[in-house]
Amino acid sequence: MGYQVLLFYKYVTIEQPQDYVVQFRALCEKHALLGRALIAEEGINATLEGTLEATEAFVQEWKEDSRFSDVQIKRSPGTGAAFRKLSVKFRNEIVGTKFPQEVDPRVKTAPHITPDELHSLYEKKDDFVVVDMRNSYEYASGHFANSIDPGMNASRELPEKVEKLRIHKDKKIITVCTGGIRCEKMSAYLLHEGFENVYQLDGGMHTYMEKYPEGYFKGTLFTFDDRMTMDFGGKREIVGKCKLCNSTTESYQNCSNAECNMLFLICDDCTGDAGPVFCDEACKARAVHILDRVRR
Ligand SMILES: [Zn+2]
Ligand SMILES: [Zn+2]
Repeated sequence: MGYQVLLFYKYVTIEQPQDYVVQFRALCEKHALLGRALIAEEGINATLEGTLEATEAFVQEWKEDSRFSDVQIKRSPGTGAAFRKLSVKFRNEIVGTKFPQEVDPRVKTAPHITPDELHSLYEKKDDFVVVDMRNSYEYASGHFANSIDPGMNASRELPEKVEKLRIHKDKKIITVCTGGIRCEKMSAYLLHEGFENVYQLDGGMHTYMEKYPEGYFKGTLFTFDDRMTMDFGGKREIVGKCKLCNSTTESYQNCSNAECNMLFLICDDCTGDAGPVFCDEACKARAVHILDRVRR
């Protein structure tokens, strides 16, 4: 049986979001989908997996709601085990940023450019800068050619990193992320900070890679589910490097220091046979006194 993962979002006002959490969960359960959804007054953000038939039946039924009929749904091959459960939650924001309230993609966000437009900017070697709005550990396994990693561990860190983007302020800036949702808010934040020539990639890396599997996205796409990474086939180079020895790898592990728990790339040699793994020596040193309690 074939499985499929659905990825989608929309910034749209949802009145009574808590009530909608209950409705949306019931719809997912009806179609036996597992995954994660966040619902806020500002919109919805979801990744769900089910059989091909079930996911398509879900999409058809969900889109009967006029608020969501125009949502772009990204589809990728599932494994049947991308998620262990269904979690549908109310949140204040569908991407946690804590930006000032006037940064609201429902009111103002950067214009979208299509994957075709971005592709042709690369082909023409145009003067532009791609800023990756994901976290650094996501960037590690794959990213757009020549793109900038601002160095975030979470979306709320953009205000601390924005200064290092100012040198590109007069260039055409294109923000990119996995499926587009983070760019809606991150590009709006750049506009709020006085950047003027800002665009965002419509449908994110997911949509670009689907169309250009051997294009300017290099490596593999990090996912927030048990697949860890994904691609759409085709020949591609491995850009991921082991954080410990710098050899080529695409495997992620969490740092065994529970206070760190950071995801990082690690090769098979450095992983060894089970036992704890640490993202760096400092983390190992901090964890060493509790080593005997560490469980991987
Ligand atoms: Zn290694
Ligand atoms: Zn660590």
